[in-house]
Amino acid sequence: MRLLRIDQDLARDSYYAATAPRQEAYAPLHGDVEADVAIVGGGLAGLSAALELVQHGLDVRLLEASQVGGGASGRNGGQAIHGLACDNSTVEGQLGLADARRLWDMSLEALDLIRQRCAGHGIDAEWQDGFLGLSTKPSKTRELRAWADRLERDYHYPLQWIGPEHVQDWIASPRFHAGIHDPRSGHLHPLKYCLGLARAAAAAGATLHEGSAVHQMEAAADGTQRLRTSTGSVRARQVLLAGNVYLQALAPELAPALADRVMPVGTYIVCTEPLDPERLRALIPSRSAVCDTNFVLDYFRPTADHRLLYGGRVSYSMVTPRDLMQSMQARLVRTFPQLADVGMSHAWGGFVDISINRAPDFGRLGAQRNVYYLQGFSGHGLALTGLAGKVVAEAMRGDAARFDCFGKLRHRPFPGGTLMRTPALVLGMAYYRLRDLL
Ligand SMILES: Cc1cc2nc3c(=O)[nH]c(=O)nc-3n(C[C@H](O)[C@H](O)[C@H](O)COP(=O)(O)OP(=O)(O)OC[C@H]3O[C@@H](n4cnc5c(N)ncnc54)[C@H](O)[C@@H]3O)c2cc1C
Repeated sequence: MRLLRIDQDLARDSYYAATAPRQEAYAPLHGDVEADVAIVGGGLAGLSAALELVQHGLDVRLLEASQVGGGASGRNGGQAIHGLACDNSTVEGQLGLADARRLWDMSLEALDLIRQRCAGHGIDAEWQDGFLGLSTKPSKTRELRAWADRLERDYHYPLQWIGPEHVQDWIASPRFHAGIHDPRSGHLHPLKYCLGLARAAAAAGATLHEGSAVHQMEAAADGTQRLRTSTGSVRARQVLLAGNVYLQALAPELAPALADRVMPVGTYIVCTEPLDPERLRALIPSRSAVCDTNFVLDYFRPTADHRLLYGGRVSYSMVTPRDLMQSMQARLVRTFPQLADVGMSHAWGGFVDISINRAPDFGRLGAQRNVYYLQGFSGHGLALTGLAGKVVAEAMRGDAARFDCFGKLRHRPFPGGTLMRTPALVLGMAYYRLRDLL
């Protein structure tokens, strides 16, 4: 419950909520109904699955505790980037190169899927091509170069290399040393995208319910599952749990087996007042999304209405940094000292569901293996959730090859149980933070 309280506060002043008015509301569930598939969670993962399933003729009910896009999906950094949150070497170490390549290729498909869905369903989500990954010092440049070389050699994915002599052509900041550019990745307004996806799923025939927190799931003798809210229930042959970190906070008994495998970690964003378009363009002439390559990374991008949206900081203890707007502004000004005179309009944040190895955690539960789950996007889920929804829908329709490829990734619980895992994580992360600084 503490997480939900903090999360509500963090959601209050989001730039996205202020610029994407909600035109639709979806009525809460009332009474007892049946469906082929019941989905818990109206973020990008749940909505993507709902759209795919209903397009293939299945009867779908999606249950969302608050509002669609009210979680991470509607207030993230808006960066849709190739790959997974973990490095390819983590996947290769567990699955071998061939399957690591399959997952990499699916991460690229996830980027194309966003473009296709925006075009196919008339979603104006302000998509902009381009991603810059930038190193902050020579040792990080060497790591980035080695990674880019491996990507080209083993994954046949060449990126444009930006050497130290050219980095200032790409970004007007003293902080960066070198980088890569990927035109296939990009950025968008995530809440507009999320609301558009919800509209598309509903128009295709999925029934969405907001204000419908699921608090119980019971298996019947015939293998069906009944999901209960305070005002009704859905009996379904198959279930998808796509509740992110909120699932354990709202209904810990729904899937206790998943509880220790992801941890909520806070991340924060600030947004400037609109800038003169030329001033903004001078900062990032390609208009790309940007991330540095530090473990605790800064991420930023220009918006369609000429603001700079700047994310960073983390809280492993869930406590919101004091003076959020000012502390985020200081971070922004460290990167762009020339913006010291610019006012900030919004500051907000949310929680990401990190897994211990940062790899996505997909699988099935229950005696009948008909309760699917998607979690562990580890702060890299904007694009991947869309693909995850697609592959889970394939699995529910009988072709589990792609879903099971993700499902082969092994996951360990965070050590220390629910009480001690936070201090243990804080200590572990302090080590990586130190490495960023040295
Ligand atoms: C501040 C921030 C910045 C980020 N930046 C980026 C970025 O730039 N790029 C990127 O790739 N990723 C980013 N991420 C991560 C990305 O947003 C997530 O990985 C992704 O949105 C997860 O989608 P989801 O559908 O799994 O979860 P969510 O969007 O959180 O949706 C889960 C939903 O499930 C509902 N729910 C949970 N339990 C229940 C229940 N029992 N009954 C009914 N409903 C329930 C919740 O209310 C919630 O709406 C960021 C995240 C945050 C918080």
